[in-house]
Amino acid sequence: MIKQFRVKTNTRTELVDITQAVQRMVAESGIRSGVCYVFVPHTTAGVTINENTDPNVGRDILKELNKVIPFDDNYGHNEGNSAAHIKSTLVGMSKSILVEEGRLALGTWQAIFFCEFDGPRERRVMVKVMKD
Ligand code: ZN
Repeated sequence: MIKQFRVKTNTRTELVDITQAVQRMVAESGIRSGVCYVFVPHTTAGVTINENTDPNVGRDILKELNKVIPFDDNYGHNEGNSAAHIKSTLVGMSKSILVEEGRLALGTWQAIFFCEFDGPRERRVMVKVMKD
């Protein structure tokens, strides 16, 4: 069974720490050992895993992504959000995280981030936990 939750973003590009929401779904699944699959069903958003202790890490990631893929660059897509589509493809829309003893087996400094590239919007994150 697939579970999902909503993420409300407040700015054009933003990283939102969703680790606790995903962990809650792992706990609700009752699965102690397996794999947690996180999927973002959007074409202008993504999901990544990185450090959450220093908020500058997320800021730097967005800053450099915005530099490499400018918001305006004579793109052909007439919706005006090509940069968001490209960032979504680069970052990716899914992550698999191992589950051990009922918890996400993340490293000490790792957190799961929803990546908004065309906000602000209300978004969905889908989670499936599979038993091994
Ligand atoms: Zn578009």
